[in-house]
Amino acid sequence: MTIAENIHVVRQHIEDACAKAGRKPDEVTLIAVSKTNPAEAVIEAAVAGAQHFGENRVEEAESKIPVVNAQVSKPLTWHMIGHVQSRKAKDVEALFQYVHSVDTLKLAQKFSALSLEKGKTLDVLLEVNVSGEEAKHGFVASQWANDDAMKSALWSELEQVFALPGLKVRGLMTMAPIVPDPQQARPVFASLAALREALQDRFSVVLPDLSMGMTDDYPVAIEEGATFVRVGRAIFGERAIK
Ligand SMILES: *Cc1c(COP(=O)(O)O)cnc(C)c1O
Repeated sequence: MTIAENIHVVRQHIEDACAKAGRKPDEVTLIAVSKTNPAEAVIEAAVAGAQHFGENRVEEAESKIPVVNAQVSKPLTWHMIGHVQSRKAKDVEALFQYVHSVDTLKLAQKFSALSLEKGKTLDVLLEVNVSGEEAKHGFVASQWANDDAMKSALWSELEQVFALPGLKVRGLMTMAPIVPDPQQARPVFASLAALREALQDRFSVVLPDLSMGMTDDYPVAIEEGATFVRVGRAIFGERAIK
């Protein structure tokens, strides 16, 4: 299968999941996760109609994004989806239109300050660890619905994030655990969607976006309200182990 054919199939699955959930396909934006794949593959995907791309490492993005941008006729939107070290925030801000992986108050403050210096605002999503897996980055939120101490700690941090003038907080992002059956990821997606509702109610903020769902589970994520799905292998094929 070519990249173009893969994109076609993924878009079909997105439409099917939307139909099942009673949602409109244009509510869901496909992010083609191009990490580890060369610029040529990204260009092929762009020619096939992909417009949003996701990368997770700054060094790789620095060498890839300018090459791709110079060779495509329409502007692409680049999404940072990997953990960002504070000292790399400036490079990220220069390369990407969205950052999905704002995972601490400190990093949020850093991005806000950098954006203000440039007189702009940065579109971000807050990465939330709702699964409770220790290896995962993100604001700690596994028990936000029933652990009052966890909830108040989270509320106090997020309240400060929402107040940052250099950020436009578009919503929440999460990574589901790797499970044999994608249905097992459903409670994690549902929890992120419920957290979004709770935050909107509590802080009178508008959080239109939920970034959730990858190759193995994006149809389930769409059923639970995803507006961004981050799909790599189903488009570009299996990645060489790095
Ligand atoms: C790699 C990656 C993806 C895409 O994963 P696939 O299984 O290849 O679809 C999505 N989100 C994040 C944060 C990633 O690092």
